Amino acid sequence: MPPENSSKALAENLYKQGVELSLKNKTLSLLSKLYEISALALTPEELAGQAVKIIKDDLSFELAGILSLEEEKQLLKPIALSSSDRLSKIQSEFSVELEKIEIPLSRSIFLKSIIDKRIPGHSQELTDVWDELIPKEMYAEIKSSGHIKSSLAYPLVTDDKLRGVLFLSLNREIENLTPFENESLSSVVNVITVALDKAFLYMQLKKTNEELASANIRLKELDQQKSEFVSLASHQLRSPLSSIKGYASMLREGDYGALSEDMKKPVSAIEESSKSLATMVDDFLNVSRIEQGTMKFDFTDFDLKKLAEDVVYEQKPTAEKAGLKLSFVAEPNKTFMITADLVKIKQVITNFLDNSIKYTPKGSIDVSISKHEDNKILIKITDTGIGISAETLPKLFSKFTRASDANKTNIHGTGLGLYVAKQMVEAHKGRAWAESAGEGKGSTFYIELQGK
Ligand code: ADP
Repeated sequence: MPPENSSKALAENLYKQGVELSLKNKTLSLLSKLYEISALALTPEELAGQAVKIIKDDLSFELAGILSLEEEKQLLKPIALSSSDRLSKIQSEFSVELEKIEIPLSRSIFLKSIIDKRIPGHSQELTDVWDELIPKEMYAEIKSSGHIKSSLAYPLVTDDKLRGVLFLSLNREIENLTPFENESLSSVVNVITVALDKAFLYMQLKKTNEELASANIRLKELDQQKSEFVSLASHQLRSPLSSIKGYASMLREGDYGALSEDMKKPVSAIEESSKSLATMVDDFLNVSRIEQGTMKFDFTDFDLKKLAEDVVYEQKPTAEKAGLKLSFVAEPNKTFMITADLVKIKQVITNFLDNSIKYTPKGSIDVSISKHEDNKILIKITDTGIGISAETLPKLFSKFTRASDANKTNIHGTGLGLYVAKQMVEAHKGRAWAESAGEGKGSTFYIELQGK
């Protein structure tokens, strides 16, 4: 080869490499722009809008658009279309907004085959995209004003999920695209697909979050209404109940004359049942007060040892009637003064002791009071009763929790007592908890309060 020919070939080669290099740079900068927008929390429409603008400007395409697939309706809906003064003018001339035209798959054989086969396709005719959905003259104008020679369409598929189609129109024949240009295009399509997929998921997540938030508000309203209803109903039940309880007790005590032997049992039953009903109503009322934040506390200074001793003394007859031994021990040489709501703390100790009696078929119950670090006072109620399984123990102080064997002992209960008790202790900045070695192995209930 003559020397001038070989240097010409070299120059040509260098020129070609230079063109490829600049295209490579362009593609890299385009990809980095696409990565940047894909990291933003955008809606699919916002993301598609920015993507088509970048593609059209950076790769010098005449027209770029993204259509999202609505699978149920079998149609493609434009979510972004690149804009140009030329295109805007043509659209207003024909009073047609391309971005508003939904394309049923049955109307575009070209797009349908891309969707069905999930592989890219190309066409020389722009009409293949919109079929007869826009006037022929309009196609002609878009085509001639932009010197459009061909159109490309890529399916946007990730993990088997087909999100839509990206189409591009260019002023060259497809055959004139270099292998490198084709490769860059498929990288661009990949990035767009992933970004769009993420935007769709983000939108779904946002929607689900909004739905959850409004369902939550509704639930809170319902819960509030429920608490108000329970509080109202319980108030209404209280007065007739105390009247039944009072008259039953007067009847039993002979205030209306001595009861015949036949009458004694039913009257006692009325008294007992009305008492447990009153406890239930009180539990409901307390729960609704706790939930509405309307529980009132009346703090005074008192001796906790004396209070615990009084409760034990009051419950002794019931324990003895059940054949149980009940003992009380206080740590010697200690004072047990506290500042608390006496009525509420009495209710808590009574509740724990009452439970111990209810859930101990035989054996004993030991109550003790002791003082610990930082003046903390601990009341311990240990029984030899039915015990608590490891499974029930963590939920014991939740609302409506009753161990599966609680009913077996044929004891009526609501499963609210411990919940109310714990809330009351916690309102005093104290702690209430239970321990048990398991079913049939007895239990110990603890109340810890700050001493003075
Ligand atoms: P109730 O006694 O009305 O069911 P509580 O909230 O007072 O409701 O108690 C909840 C559950 O805790 C009881 O149903 C029972 O299963 C269990 N429990 C409470 N105290 C004891 C105890 N001393 N021994 C065994 N189980 C107990």
